[in-house]
Amino acid sequence: MPECSARVHHTETFGTVDGPGVRFVFFMQGCGLRCRYCHNPDSLDPNGGALWTLTQAEQEALRYRNFIQGVTFSGGEPLLQAEFVAQLSRRLAREGLPSAIDTAGAPDLRAAAPAIDAAQLLLLDVKAADSELARQLCGEGNERSFATLDYCEQTGKRVWLRHVLVPGWTLPSKQLTQLARRLRPYRCVELVELLPFHQLGAAKWATLGRPYPFRDMPPADPEAVEEAADLFAGMGFTVL
Ligand code: SF4
Repeated sequence: MPECSARVHHTETFGTVDGPGVRFVFFMQGCGLRCRYCHNPDSLDPNGGALWTLTQAEQEALRYRNFIQGVTFSGGEPLLQAEFVAQLSRRLAREGLPSAIDTAGAPDLRAAAPAIDAAQLLLLDVKAADSELARQLCGEGNERSFATLDYCEQTGKRVWLRHVLVPGWTLPSKQLTQLARRLRPYRCVELVELLPFHQLGAAKWATLGRPYPFRDMPPADPEAVEEAADLFAGMGFTVL
């Protein structure tokens, strides 16, 4: 039987913003969502990127084992290639490298569960508390993301909850209050990471020759971002 393989957009050797400590990051190719603010639009096509075998990927990550605290699968949507992520996570865990998965939690949970089980931590990006708002923002409601969060709660999986703050969309305090209230019962959520919208992805949309839906969106106002952090902290969350 041929070795399990997956499509990888690129890797990053010493990532510092995708989980605890310094990490080797696999940016997996392919995503089923279409977030208006996507800063990696070149990773959406499931047929793009390069094909990596498990052994190739394992050997590449292990080259840096003395300098990193773990490995993160980001993307794109890594749970669309769950079998590869599960197998590689297990192999790397045996070598002392725990893995984190940076995911929107949207892929089918039956297929994704083995990868979640094999990871130490999920960086779960919930797009909005309101499903219709999530649909307008990213093309799909939030039901599957919350199903993934429910699964983490049931299995005791650690979660760092990520949320992008988009002016006029998810940044209004009404939306944030709704999200904080919805998240409060989940004991698996260790911390909340609020990610202010920025324009850094705009150049990639231009390179792809595609119109960037948020071309005219201003960056999130720092004062409003601080208020958002205070709101979550005031409701008992640790905010990164
Ligand atoms: S989930 Fe992430 S990779 Fe997929 S469209 Fe949204 S921002 Fe882009």
